[in-house]
Amino acid sequence: MSKLSGIGASAGIAIAKAYRLEEPVLTVEKKAAADTAAESARFDEAIAKSKIELEKIKEHALKELGKDKADIFAAHLLVLSDPELLNPVKDKIQSENVNAEFALKETSDMFVSMFESMDNEYMKERAADIRDVTKRVIAHLLGVEIPNPSMISEEVVIIAEDLTPSDTAQLNRQFVKGFTTDIGGRTSHSAIMARSMEIPAVVGTKEATSSIKNGTLVIVDGLDGDVIIDPSKETIAAYVDKKEKYDLQKAEWAKLVNEPTVTKDSQHVELAANIGTPKDVKGVLENGGEAVGLYRTEFLYMGRDQLPTEEEQFEAYKSVLSDMKGKPVVVRTLDIGGDKELPYLKLPKEMNPFLGFRAIRLCLEEQDIFRTQLRALLRASTFGNLKIMFPMIATVAEFRQAKAILLEEKQKLQDSGAEVSDSIEIGIMVEIPSTAVMADVFAKEVDFFSIGTNDLIQYTMAADRMNERVSYLYQPYNPAILRLVSLVIEAAHKEGKWAGMCGEMAGDPLAIPLLLGLGLDEFSMSATSILPARSQLKQLSKEEAVSFKEKVLSMSTTEEVVSFVKETFMV
Ligand code: PEP
Ligand code: MG
Repeated sequence: MSKLSGIGASAGIAIAKAYRLEEPVLTVEKKAAADTAAESARFDEAIAKSKIELEKIKEHALKELGKDKADIFAAHLLVLSDPELLNPVKDKIQSENVNAEFALKETSDMFVSMFESMDNEYMKERAADIRDVTKRVIAHLLGVEIPNPSMISEEVVIIAEDLTPSDTAQLNRQFVKGFTTDIGGRTSHSAIMARSMEIPAVVGTKEATSSIKNGTLVIVDGLDGDVIIDPSKETIAAYVDKKEKYDLQKAEWAKLVNEPTVTKDSQHVELAANIGTPKDVKGVLENGGEAVGLYRTEFLYMGRDQLPTEEEQFEAYKSVLSDMKGKPVVVRTLDIGGDKELPYLKLPKEMNPFLGFRAIRLCLEEQDIFRTQLRALLRASTFGNLKIMFPMIATVAEFRQAKAILLEEKQKLQDSGAEVSDSIEIGIMVEIPSTAVMADVFAKEVDFFSIGTNDLIQYTMAADRMNERVSYLYQPYNPAILRLVSLVIEAAHKEGKWAGMCGEMAGDPLAIPLLLGLGLDEFSMSATSILPARSQLKQLSKEEAVSFKEKVLSMSTTEEVVSFVKETFMV
């Protein structure tokens, strides 16, 4: 038995066998074929195995993930039957007397670069299909296993160096009981998704992949950030006990699901949820969310190989708005970049992706993408209470430009006879320090602010939110952050606007008394944090929290703030 410590990224306890999710190393070497006919037969066999595998994956995808995802694998199957690809490989084996994997790799590389250089989206997608399929066939030829998380059919804990948000989205909740990664922090997007999927997770353990073998029994304790490898019987019993206690606590919180969120002195604050897909709305309502405070629309663009159409987006937005039945829904326009990549946009690699061409910067440049999304949103606006917010706003000029484009699309739609709501609030994320500092100026032009502390902290402290080595600098309670948050809330209130927070800090029990004291109006968090937050807020007095505001803002260090909160508000 041994133990790893990491960052508890999603609460709960999972006990199951380890399933290692790794990108296989596929090294293809050129070799002379001893018998070219046998080499061709080996190639046929690898194709046949890949087809059987893909059929299974396609069926599974159709059942679990819908037709869209299943179509990707149908396209892969077509490639595997295409004589235009298969024949040149066999010719190459024959005429150049080489091994099958080498012949396949050379042929496929040639097609991939040919299709990629074409100025045609359809052909570019085919290049991606060929690359994927080739990887699968080569793995069979080399006898290397390709992991496939969507096909897991027994209870497991996933072990990975890192998980991309789209890997996470594909995890099957029925079987994936928890996960642990070497890298990442509480605010990396796989952690955020784990919370919304209610999968216990510990990230940033540094050594999960180097110390956990496939099939070993593992305990993931997302409450304390521990991972126990090969636990003893006594340890298992202790964790089963801890899990039961946690489940009881959850049952207590569940009683608050239909209660209003009011403090001890009868002050209401709004508890909203962050969502990534329309499916998450169910969890918001089950957890008593009063609104959606952040809909991260970029997940609609991920895990696929082309941009979603206006119609697909319209359906997604309409579904969220109608399911929320008139409760507020803050939809954030596309925030791609940082740890959220869209491979099919083929953007050049950047030295500093979190500081690069992303979010609103990309939308203002690639206006077709932006306008399509805005049209879909505007058309859906009549189905509920829509608020639109722009991410990563750094200057007033960016906000003005984005708003002007939104109003242009609205006018065009109305001119064409489409119905668009007239009460859509337009706001911004405050996640760049320049915007927090200029909040008084912004407050005159926006309808609301939503403070994105996940990024605001990383930009203010210059500490990458994904990098566990600098996680000591990632300090939500640093007075520098609290002062910026306070500036934003005060600026909003001065202009009669509201200020919310949709960074992970909003659901953090240590931060909640501070944010209440700073006057925050809306707290938006993972759905599973709503009921614990409601329970906590019921026991706090807003008047008392406000009375400590100046004292807290004049403190010198994070440690000072944390001990103050613990002594004053935590009993
Ligand atoms: C944030 O930065 O706080 C935020 C909510 O956005 P994201 O986590 O998607 O970057
Ligand atoms: Mg952000």
